[in-house]
Amino acid sequence: MFCKMVSGEIPVTRLYDDADCMAFADIHPQAPVHVLVIPKEHLQSTAHAEASHGPLLGKLMAAAAVVAKGQGLSGGYRLVVNTGDDGGQTVGHLHVHVLGGRHMGWPPG
Ligand code: C5P
Repeated sequence: MFCKMVSGEIPVTRLYDDADCMAFADIHPQAPVHVLVIPKEHLQSTAHAEASHGPLLGKLMAAAAVVAKGQGLSGGYRLVVNTGDDGGQTVGHLHVHVLGGRHMGWPPG
């Protein structure tokens, strides 16, 4: 589904966009700021990542930090990557949740 955001078939406002990654607001926000950062290349999850994906995974984290800064999360934020059913992943295209604007509890649910 997120490939359709990449192609433009499903229009989204891009909060971040570079050659490898893009970001958009989550449609069901779980915090005052809830942005998803995705690779443009389809990669199902971290469980499907190969060693060759290392640079892309690094770019995703760097993009998430740029998004967080752009959203004004100077007090901190949480990055979440759900993986597989037990990890709570519901969309089969790797994404980093950028959550912020409130205090995050631990442990997560
Ligand atoms: O980590 P998980 O796979 O559960 O996260 C998927 C996220 O994608 C959810 O937070 C959901 O609200 C979001 N989503 C979205 N736009 C869609 C479909 C799902 O923002 N069209």
